[in-house]
Formats: sequence, C-alpha cells, structure tokens
Amino acid sequence: MERLRELMVKNQIEARGVSDLRVLEAMRKVERHKFIPGHHVASAYEDHPLPIGHGQTISQPYIVALMTELCELKGNEKVLEIGTGSGYQAAIFSLLAKQVYSIEIVDPLAKSARQKLKELGYHNIEIRTGDGYLGWPEKAPFDVIMLTASPPKIPQTLIDQLADGGILVAPEGDFTQELIKITKNKGTITKKTVTYVRFVPMIRGSE
Ligand code: SAH
Repeated sequence: MERLRELMVKNQIEARGVSDLRVLEAMRKVERHKFIPGHHVASAYEDHPLPIGHGQTISQPYIVALMTELCELKGNEKVLEIGTGSGYQAAIFSLLAKQVYSIEIVDPLAKSARQKLKELGYHNIEIRTGDGYLGWPEKAPFDVIMLTASPPKIPQTLIDQLADGGILVAPEGDFTQELIKITKNKGTITKKTVTYVRFVPMIRGSE
C-alpha cells in the first residue's frame, strides 16, 4: 500500500503541479485505504472519487491535495472543515495544522470518522454532527475553512467565522461548480476561481 501511495503522489499529484512539500508529505503519510469501506479498498489509490456510504464520496486524491495546498498551511493554524465524510481530509489537515474542527451532517459518518481517527492516533481533531451552514461559532475565528460539499453560494456565516488573514477554500454552485479561494484581509474579501470541480451538494439542515 505504501508503494501505491508513493505512486499516487508522484503520478497524480506532483505531476499535476502540486508542489507544497508539506502537503506532498502528508499525502504520502496518511493511509488513505483505511478511510475507504471494505469492498473499495483495492481502489484507494486510484485517480477518482470513491463511495463512502450514505450517498457520499471521498474526493479524488489530486483534488484533496490541490485544495489543501490552496490553504497555505504552515503548522500553527486552527482549521474548520465542513463535510467530515470518511475523515480523510481531516487526517491530512491534522498533520499540517495545529487544531482541526470538522462538522458532518450525517451522524453515522461523523461517528465512524471520529472512531477511525482515534484508532489511527490523530489527536488534534474534533468532530461534531451538525449543519455546516452554521459553522462552529464557539470555536471561531478560523485561520482556514474548507468546504468539501458544494453550497449554491458560500454562506456569509462561514466568511464571518474566518480570521483576519484567513483563507476559505470551497466548491461553489449547483450543477456547474467552481473551486474558489476566498481571502480576508483587514475585512476585505477577495475571491478567485481556481478551476471547475464536481462535489456532492451541501445539504441544508436548518431552516
Ligand atoms: N472530506 C470528506 C469527503 C466529504 S463528502 C472526506 O475526506 O472523506 C461531503 C460530506 O459533506 C458528506 O459526508 C456529507 O454528508 C457532508 N455534508 C453535506 N452537507 C453538509 C452540511 N450542511 N453540513 C455538514 N456536512 C455536510
């Protein structure tokens, strides 16, 4: 599996231009196959998303690496992830930031990710079941916020929970989705489109 992971990083990630050495190292370290349900384990290092149950998917490895690189993590950050899913992205963050918070709307997914991350020895991650549209106000502000499900429009609540100098990375849109990066500097919001992506929709829990 280690060999397959090496090849994944070399052929799918470095070859496509991800160059942040810390991100590449984290992608080499985290045992992606341990986050994939039994019958799909053999495909864990292939170049595409995979089902993780409850109609949800774990993203293609390249997209995880690209989005993580966009977060520009140095090691001291407080990160919020929306859409815990399998817990894989949270594990990657765990190696690159100081503290990771992750919100998942499907309770069984939140529970199994929490259990898995504990088993694998990741200690700086807190997961809660809840609606990502509301963020996690008690823990705000966050240096980095990442959405791994696509809202029609980035919720203002999440932009409000971004620290000054913070970065938010997310898919945005319904059918056509853009991968966007938002930065906040002294209250000024800058938004740029990085590429086009296809994520599961961000479900509305409250309303
Ligand atoms: N980051 C995950 C993949 C996430 S797939 C991983 O590494 O495996 C997107 C996840 O977002 C799904 O698990 C889905 O249940 C969750 N989700 C959808 N809408 C949500 C919402 N409003 N709040 C929190 N999580 C949500």
